[in-house]
Amino acid sequence: MPTISTASASTLQQISLIEKRAHPLLICDVDEVLLQFIPHLERFMADNGISFKETAYRLKANMVYTQSGEKLSDDACMAVIHDFFESEVGRQEAVPHAAEQLERLSKLCDIVILTNLPGTHNKPARENLLKSLGMGYPLVTNDGPKGGAVAALCAERAHHPVIFIDDSPTNILSVGKSTPHVQLVHFIADPRFYATSSDLPNVALKSNCWKETGDFIENLLVAAVK
Ligand SMILES: [Mg+2]
Repeated sequence: MPTISTASASTLQQISLIEKRAHPLLICDVDEVLLQFIPHLERFMADNGISFKETAYRLKANMVYTQSGEKLSDDACMAVIHDFFESEVGRQEAVPHAAEQLERLSKLCDIVILTNLPGTHNKPARENLLKSLGMGYPLVTNDGPKGGAVAALCAERAHHPVIFIDDSPTNILSVGKSTPHVQLVHFIADPRFYATSSDLPNVALKSNCWKETGDFIENLLVAAVK
């Protein structure tokens, strides 16, 4: 079971700088939740002669060289993702209505952005882009499953609701195990990947719409203070 100690020293150090208070908290992923990811990655891959073999929610083992149909090795897939972030981190587009719904929810809860972003030097570019899109909330970079980071972010918020939003099954399952009291929202902006994604256990809401997600979380937060 992940614990706080499974988060990296860098992640825990970033979390230590975030104000802790007895107040509800929304922890929000970036890629495919606040910023478009799959469509950008597909364009970047196409420019490099690579495409997805099928619409399936995994990146590794799903990339092929478009002309030959040959699969990329795991290392080659990771290199594509690394190069994508190096090139595109400052250019991704916002998911529709994400900023306005976070603004609405920020009146009821604290918001922390928790993102698995390769390359620590990419953090300022991501922060600047999100700020320019109206989503300038505290941002923590993480590496691997997010259960440890979420457990650390939950400290000192006992008896207050915590909500976690992510597209990655690995992260949803990790947080469900480490902090079972956290409400899980499985959000996938891309409609094709949303349609083919598996239903995960203990998810309070599965959505690809920020208006629906904003309504759902507001109801949770309002119900918690009654
Ligand atoms: Mg994501």
